[in-house]
Amino acid sequence: MITRINHIAIVVEDLDAALGFWRDALGLPLDKTEENPGENVTIAFLPIGEAEIELLEPTDPASGIGKYLAKKGAGMHHVCVEVTGIDAVIERLVAHGVEMINETPRVRDEGTRYAFVHPKSAFGVLVELYELPEGP
Ligand code: ZN
Repeated sequence: MITRINHIAIVVEDLDAALGFWRDALGLPLDKTEENPGENVTIAFLPIGEAEIELLEPTDPASGIGKYLAKKGAGMHHVCVEVTGIDAVIERLVAHGVEMINETPRVRDEGTRYAFVHPKSAFGVLVELYELPEGP
């Protein structure tokens, strides 16, 4: 089941410069900024209603996101849809002929399970599925 948009991720060259728009000019609060060494990005989290804007600044030009930035420039990277029962959601997508980047969900440190849908099956948009860990 799909529950909400969890976040929209935007790749930027320079977090401070991007915060000049998203935080200072537009007025979104900055919740936190965090290094994610596993994915070679620094992420700024800006809550917007029930969702978040995530600004991703690559820390390594040779990483996946670093190469993406070099090739396509700054811009929207992916939309993250929060679901319950991610395995069943993936099964349903595959049954509809959708190409997944991850047919088996990957797991983050805090227990979130996630998988990406290939943009060519989603009309040019990289879609991330997120299943948050069970409550406390
Ligand atoms: Zn994401």
